[in-house]
Amino acid sequence: MTAAAPIDVASIRADLPALSVQVHDDQQVVYLDAAASAPRPTPVIEAAAAFDREYPANVHRATHQMAAQATAAFEAARADVARFINAANPHDVVFTKGTTESINLFASSWGGANLGAGDEVLITALEHHANIVPWQLLAARTGCVLKVIDCDDEGNIDTATALSMLGDTTKLLSLTWVSNAIGTVVDLHPLITAAKARGVTTLIDAAQAVPHLPVDVRELGADAIAFSGHKMYGPTGVGVLWARGDLLADMPPWQGGGEMIRTVSFAESTWNDPPWRFEAGTPNISGVIGTSAAVRWLESIGMDAIAAHDAAMTDELVTRLTSIDRVQLVGTPQHRSGAASFNVEGMHHADCGMLLDRHGVAVRTGHHCAEPIMHRLGVSGTVRASIGCFTTSDDLDAFETALRRVIEVFG
Ligand code: PLP
Repeated sequence: MTAAAPIDVASIRADLPALSVQVHDDQQVVYLDAAASAPRPTPVIEAAAAFDREYPANVHRATHQMAAQATAAFEAARADVARFINAANPHDVVFTKGTTESINLFASSWGGANLGAGDEVLITALEHHANIVPWQLLAARTGCVLKVIDCDDEGNIDTATALSMLGDTTKLLSLTWVSNAIGTVVDLHPLITAAKARGVTTLIDAAQAVPHLPVDVRELGADAIAFSGHKMYGPTGVGVLWARGDLLADMPPWQGGGEMIRTVSFAESTWNDPPWRFEAGTPNISGVIGTSAAVRWLESIGMDAIAAHDAAMTDELVTRLTSIDRVQLVGTPQHRSGAASFNVEGMHHADCGMLLDRHGVAVRTGHHCAEPIMHRLGVSGTVRASIGCFTTSDDLDAFETALRRVIEVFG
């Protein structure tokens, strides 16, 4: 395979107006919080605004010209997202409001129909709350059991340990691809292959993978994946659940209302086909249209090239952090993407984040909606710096300088 040509970071940055914002009056923002939400490119902002300005009609319902245009754009967005993840059929792409809703949808619908008392859902110690709590809610409803594949002290998921936990009662493997809290990339292939061989269904939380890695659902082999638009340079309030068509076809609705029905009477209702069966009510139309612009923006740069750039920036971030006295990395996984978590000896993570902010450096602090992995690694929280395709060595230099200064002044 030939290496992807390097990306043109200057032109990427020119597309991202948020990067020119000054914070605290006169500080140029250094945005290292892409794992929480990536900045929006101008074409994304424009595509969403064009809908609001020029054809702000509802989808699927009316016969007039504006509604037809809105419906065409909405369904074209579904095709764009399908192409982006190499899904065979756009109708296997369900729009939700985020990864959280996608996983809740899957838990409620597929889980509610397929999991009973004693059936096991296997997750990892790395999960975001979005891939923990829906299963706890389902367990309370159905009696299914949540089991956790532990990580090692570095934050790696050992494949042999994970495989040893696949048992006769395992019905679902629901795994994060990339940890939002410490950056671990989980080696999914052997786990998905083994699950498949045993007839275990697989759901992948790809929220932190999609902005950094090429995602090909056919190659991945999972039954379903969930991700969010706003972490891949799209608007907030849009998510995707992709699932195998035959799986979706058998899944019952999870919310009732307009659009998800075929017929309604007071006696009974019948259901629309997927994906609309799972999209009750008016969707986030401008957000979905913005998401398709984000897909086209990412495609115009190239996901292989983004992956190479983001890997280099992640390595540089870790190298810089390890060079600073009193900085302790939290999680040192073998394979990492996009983020590094750390604490400064003697300093609370919230103080560190606040002081970095005074230097214009935007990082995230706290437990990152992943309390269990924080506890597993013996901390209450961390400072997390996360990068994207817009990140430069200058950003990381500004971050390192600010962090050194914060440590020096704080004492
Ligand atoms: N899963 C992971 C790995 C995440 O990083 C996040 C958000 O940080 C989520 C799920 C939830 O995503 P959202 O808040 O967009 O629903």
